[in-house]
Amino acid sequence: MRFLLTNDDGYLALGLGVLVRAASQLGDVRVVAPDREQSATSHSLTMHHPLRVREVRSGILTVDGTPTDCVALALGELLDEPPDMVLSGVNHGANLGDDVLYRGTVAAAMEATILGKPAIAISYVGRDPEAVEAWEPTLTRLLSRLVRSDGFPEQTLLNVNLPGVAPGEVQGIRVTTLGRRTYEGSVTRDTDPSGREYYWIGGGESRWWGSERSDFRAIREACISVTPLHLDLTNYELLKEIESWDLGA
Ligand code: MN
Repeated sequence: MRFLLTNDDGYLALGLGVLVRAASQLGDVRVVAPDREQSATSHSLTMHHPLRVREVRSGILTVDGTPTDCVALALGELLDEPPDMVLSGVNHGANLGDDVLYRGTVAAAMEATILGKPAIAISYVGRDPEAVEAWEPTLTRLLSRLVRSDGFPEQTLLNVNLPGVAPGEVQGIRVTTLGRRTYEGSVTRDTDPSGREYYWIGGGESRWWGSERSDFRAIREACISVTPLHLDLTNYELLKEIESWDLGA
């Protein structure tokens, strides 16, 4: 089994190191990762300037671009042999509910899916980035069950979140749905030292909700959350209703 690994926290991130060690026990690993932190870059693709690739160690390439750039370059040009699967993470921070639309970790996995490769995004919900190191044995076991060269559904990626507890305190593994999250007061308006107004997006109070099966609930109850995602955003339930609208000629 050949794996391509990437992340959005940069190639030096502890979470990527854990993923490299876990995946190396299951197959052959190549890393193509951003040369610096690229969180919250969503599905950005760099098109207006050239990208530089550097081999920092054997099997580890860095790109001065986004996680999506890394996957596009790796699959399009950089790897001699195509990987069987793309793994993205382990992200330092949750990717739950609406997060998946903003975050580089999931976007990298989505890019792989678009390019026809099965992919798994993995995130660690805990606040202490160093605590992710203890997850290596659990992650290896989990990946050995998720990683299937055959039978991985097409156009599907798995979004995995590890709860913010010690691995020994995990209460189980749940297959979940995406919950919802909103942030209140996450846009700040202030003035800079020269008196000009500026805006800053981030922080604020977050509030989540979702069904019994939601990823948020699993994480709150100290379970590992595995959410199957697909890229077809069509709202099939609304097709008939919108068709019944008078949309003109
Ligand atoms: Mn990140």
